[in-house]
Amino acid sequence: MVPVRRALRLVIDGKAELVEAEGLGLVRSERLSVPKPAVIRLVKFVHVPRKFRRQVTNTFLFARDDYRCQFCGRHPSDFRHRECLTRDHLVPLSRGGTNEWTNVITACSSCNTRKGNSLPEESGMIPLRHPFEPHFVHLSWAVRKLTPVQAKYIRLFYGAEVLAELRALQPAAPRVAHGH
Ligand SMILES: [Zn+2]
Repeated sequence: MVPVRRALRLVIDGKAELVEAEGLGLVRSERLSVPKPAVIRLVKFVHVPRKFRRQVTNTFLFARDDYRCQFCGRHPSDFRHRECLTRDHLVPLSRGGTNEWTNVITACSSCNTRKGNSLPEESGMIPLRHPFEPHFVHLSWAVRKLTPVQAKYIRLFYGAEVLAELRALQPAAPRVAHGH
């Protein structure tokens, strides 16, 4: 799963070939016009930068945690005015905690404030699910809309069961605020 712009770059550079385009639209630049790629196939090994794999953004974090506060279990649809989803650090940054997958969890702003700078054992606030590093592919699908063309290839290569699994991972992402 890559952004369209990157997919185009890979095709233009000869690192990938276009398997199927999305609709009939063309992406035009000054010198060439290319069909908008829906599915590409890598023809060379392409290195995924470590930094990109390591970085935990709130978009992916909230998707991993099903858009629920991992302390009170509430979803933004249950929030009161001014509450929002935030990133909480199990071991606070001020106490040597990191931004790695295993130290960050989704928390509503109220729980985040209540927990403050304490460790889970000090505050007694234990997350519903221990934070884990999710599978990158699952996350990619969780935050993107699967198009009919892409669905066809998932079914072709991985079967209807995997397709159904991926579809279940695609909630309509609620609007989220960026917290700390
Ligand atoms: Zn909460």
